[in-house]
Amino acid sequence: MIQKGIPEFRKDIDRAIEFLHSPGRHIALITHVNPDGDAIGSSLGLLRVLENFGHTCTAIVPNDFPRCLKWMAGADRVLRYDLQPGRTLDKLKEAEMIIALDFNEIGRIKRLADEWHNLQAFRLLIDHHPGIQAHFDSVLSDQSASSTAELVYRFITECSLLDRMDREAAECLFSGIMTDTGCFSYNSSSPLTWRIVAELIAMGIDKDAIYHQIYDNYSAGRMRLLGFTLHERMEVLPEYRTAYLWLSTNDLQRFGFVSGDSEGFVNYPLSIEGIRFSAFFVEKEDHIKVSFRSKGKVDVNQMMRRIFQGGGHVNASGGECNESLGETISRFRAALPGYKAELNHEA
Ligand code: 5GP
Ligand code: MN
Repeated sequence: MIQKGIPEFRKDIDRAIEFLHSPGRHIALITHVNPDGDAIGSSLGLLRVLENFGHTCTAIVPNDFPRCLKWMAGADRVLRYDLQPGRTLDKLKEAEMIIALDFNEIGRIKRLADEWHNLQAFRLLIDHHPGIQAHFDSVLSDQSASSTAELVYRFITECSLLDRMDREAAECLFSGIMTDTGCFSYNSSSPLTWRIVAELIAMGIDKDAIYHQIYDNYSAGRMRLLGFTLHERMEVLPEYRTAYLWLSTNDLQRFGFVSGDSEGFVNYPLSIEGIRFSAFFVEKEDHIKVSFRSKGKVDVNQMMRRIFQGGGHVNASGGECNESLGETISRFRAALPGYKAELNHEA
């Protein structure tokens, strides 16, 4: 039996499928700022299948993505808006179809959002976040899906394009599912997810090699930064079943930080007995990046929306704050009493 919490939402998917039916279309695939494994894996997996069928595709990202994802087929051709704004816009304007992946709020593509309304292309969204889906002609959304990569697999099946999926495409989609489920530790209770993973493995991917590429490629500096963060920059608040971490730009410089190095840090406090809510604050050039993670029914999507006007999923959300690091943490701490009952409610 396939267990599904919230039913999927569809809008005019048949039109999108019809659009892709005959080869030779010009298609742009776009994903959110600070793209993660699911964003890049779902974009490059779908791009590969569409190109194998005969479409002409360009993958677009607002900014850089972690080095541990750059082995994926097509990663070297991804267009970065922050580096090549003119070329990126030309590709978006040339496209007959734009496929948006792994986000549903237009602000998630940052400055590219200003251009969105001037584009003529047919716009398809494939996503698993709760909430807003305006700005798209066609939508495939399922917030109970493990990842956008899983939804891309389902979409490819519906397009009857599974025969165009090769090992390289399967590697990308597997990476998306693996990273968005914390290596199958959360968001992965649906048998359907495992069936799709089984199909991907049957396509000849080496799952151990993929794990190794993504999780065993850090610098020594990153490991030391993790140790430092847990030792020197972690506060535990048992009365709120909460723990939080923070890093200043000085801290980052001290450990030779490169993009992606603090990926996953926010999950560590959840391993502490009794802790159900974890937060992480990282000082960037002009803002503080905030990440929330939780267990069970603690809804960090709503908390992030209310405290920092960000968003995400029930158990994983992100946002930004334009105050100082100290002020951001004070704002967070001041909000905690309002959630005391929710945080202490037995799951
Ligand atoms: P992370 O903490 O890893 O950056 O993000 C966790 C989740 O929250 C992801 O699903 C991501 O798409 C979402 N997210 C991250 N930052 C933002 C943000 O600034 N706004 C919104 N709406 N969602 C975000
Ligand atoms: Mn995702």
